[in-house]
Amino acid sequence: MAKVRQALVIGGGIAGPVTAIALRKAGIDATVFEAHERPADEVGGALTLAPNGMAALQALGVDQAVAEAGVPMPRMVMETGAGKRLGVYDDLPGLPVSRTFARPDLYRALLDQATGHGVTVEHGRRLIGYDDEPDGVVAHFADGTSATSDVLVGADGIRSTVRTLLDPAAPQPRYVGLLGLGGWVPRDGLTSTGGAMHLAFGKRAFFGYFVPEDGRAGWFANLPSAEPLTAAQARAVPAAEWLRRLKELYADDRTPALAMLSRTREEDLVNVGGMQDMPPVPVWHRGRAVLVGDSAHATSPSSGQGASLSIESGVQLARCLRDLPTTAEAFTAYERLRRHRVETIIAKTARVNNDKAAGPVGRVLRDLLFPLAIRTFYSQERLFGWVHRYRIDWNEPLTPRSVDASTA
Ligand SMILES: Cc1cc2nc3c(=O)[nH]c(=O)nc-3n(C[C@H](O)[C@H](O)[C@H](O)COP(=O)(O)OP(=O)(O)OC[C@H]3O[C@@H](n4cnc5c(N)ncnc54)[C@H](O)[C@@H]3O)c2cc1C
Repeated sequence: MAKVRQALVIGGGIAGPVTAIALRKAGIDATVFEAHERPADEVGGALTLAPNGMAALQALGVDQAVAEAGVPMPRMVMETGAGKRLGVYDDLPGLPVSRTFARPDLYRALLDQATGHGVTVEHGRRLIGYDDEPDGVVAHFADGTSATSDVLVGADGIRSTVRTLLDPAAPQPRYVGLLGLGGWVPRDGLTSTGGAMHLAFGKRAFFGYFVPEDGRAGWFANLPSAEPLTAAQARAVPAAEWLRRLKELYADDRTPALAMLSRTREEDLVNVGGMQDMPPVPVWHRGRAVLVGDSAHATSPSSGQGASLSIESGVQLARCLRDLPTTAEAFTAYERLRRHRVETIIAKTARVNNDKAAGPVGRVLRDLLFPLAIRTFYSQERLFGWVHRYRIDWNEPLTPRSVDASTA
């Protein structure tokens, strides 16, 4: 297949707009097709871009504009529900600052950047199929329309349609044993946490919260549950009932959980249902189609990395298409650059999920050993350095040899 000049990008979440911006910078025309009718249609909880995610945006020169949509969050405080501090992590020196966003704000900022870079974004266009033809790929949409291009990029999230079209035997998302809920509340009357995200291993469930100096305060809850509720099943339970259950679960904890839950309006409850990740996806590309972001490598929310990894992958995919002589070589190089890193992070996150769902004995051990481990073995650099220090040099041309060297 000859060099790529045009791409259809399916999905206008995080990976889609970023990939499209990167493709445009690589001299490739990109159109984003998003199933939702309007930008940022969905209500969404809080989402933090880690230093590596911000650095990947920096490689495209869009970090500052996107950063304005969020608040700085350079510190993470781990604690027990009883208020005992387990550890404090500050962003590592010399790196871009982590930032926390309301999901719709981040989506909107990325879409604005994409259109500003000349990307066409079409809403209300749900992909239902595609044909891989010798001279191009033809995408088919639910509204009966179609579009043709050189390549098709599946940035359509954890429940990706493109992934199944690419490989009907592709695995499905797997439940990680926790239900996810969250909310936004006015900050009045709450003690500011400054730029710190607090992560509290409560007696019965995990509670994350932040109260910035400006703007709304946010919280999220991870509840251990053997039952893997879908988002639709979880939302079938009224918000008032969820808030009542949550208050019961956090009644014995000394965190701001009860104060924040009492301030949460029913309409502001974010109900994710069962939290999921993706088992290794065997086929990332075939012919003219390729996966990027959660469609290829969704990590459970506990990693705080899903969005950042999606951004990295979008930038690397565009570099490969820019520099390698054929589509097949570009897709192969892209997978080589990305698979090991993302799958390692997904696997390590499974351990964090176990900590959040620990039983009584596990809780005692965790609360005793965690501070010791942080002081001795789990230094911040050791835990996060290899994740947060990942850098992409956009201006450095990729060659098969440099790809081999960086994955050796
Ligand atoms: C509760 C929760 C909290 C999280 N917190 C964090 C965090 O703090 N930090 C972090 O880095 N990550 C976090 N994540 C993970 C992060 O949200 C994902 O990794 C990220 O959104 C992946 O981006 P994406 O573009 O691949 O997929 P998405 O953001 O899901 O976007 C996919 C887009 O594709 C569209 N689409 C789907 N199907 C089609 C179709 N057939 N045709 C056209 N369009 C389609 C969807 O409407 C959507 O807009 C969290 C996830 C959850 C669930």
